[in-house]
Amino acid sequence: MTIKQDALSATASSLRAVMSYVSASDELTAPTSVINQARADEPVFVLRARDMVATATIEWWLWCARNRGVPAEKLERAERQRRAADLWIDKRLPTVTGTDGRTIVRTARLEREDRDSVLNSCHPDEPVFVIVASDAVSTEVVEFWAFMAERHGAPARKVEGAMEVAKAMARWQEKRIVGTGARRLAEAQPPLAEVPRPRHKTVMHLLCVECGHDERLGEPPFDEELLATVRETCEGPCPACGAEPKTDAASGQIRRVLTTSMTTE
Ligand SMILES: [Zn+2]
Repeated sequence: MTIKQDALSATASSLRAVMSYVSASDELTAPTSVINQARADEPVFVLRARDMVATATIEWWLWCARNRGVPAEKLERAERQRRAADLWIDKRLPTVTGTDGRTIVRTARLEREDRDSVLNSCHPDEPVFVIVASDAVSTEVVEFWAFMAERHGAPARKVEGAMEVAKAMARWQEKRIVGTGARRLAEAQPPLAEVPRPRHKTVMHLLCVECGHDERLGEPPFDEELLATVRETCEGPCPACGAEPKTDAASGQIRRVLTTSMTTE
């Protein structure tokens, strides 16, 4: 195991201490997880916490889902995943995986079994949010992801790949409202309360957990160079108070003092 993974495991254990969330390994192993309950050939889209666009996309899912009458319990679960993903320290632009240049629409079976799938490539503790084609809001959420990924500076091929997934999801016939099992909204639904459209948090800040130092780093489009600099900075001391990362004596894990956060301005 590399030092980097140790640092992420340390982040994950402090995250787990304050909240429960679904990680990549939970998704793969729990029989009742979203991926394990999906049909084998069902198109899926996995949002991982490392993806800079993931939290804004979960926020969009929440907004769409609220307007479709998804039960409160499912909304709370999604909100927990959004918060956990937001607090995940390692953030990167989505990258193109695989080298043959083909767009692969991933099915639930592929995500479960393929060694190179998103779920199998995640850090085991990394928060994930799985969108399945039968989710009534899947198409618009994946399209939103593609739009945001493009704005943030993701490679064109990655954006096109997501649009292929959105099309496959639109073609998937069986649709249901998450958490209700209903194929279609019943006619006699009570009117839904108007929910304001979210303001997306796309501005990256550097935060010190020791002194609260808060520094604006940039806004979309981000480039890999800036993100690499940010990752490097996060491993060092706070530029304001000088606090240094500490090594936990018992576990040997490194606890950083700097982290990043996405805000609206
Ligand atoms: Zn500081």
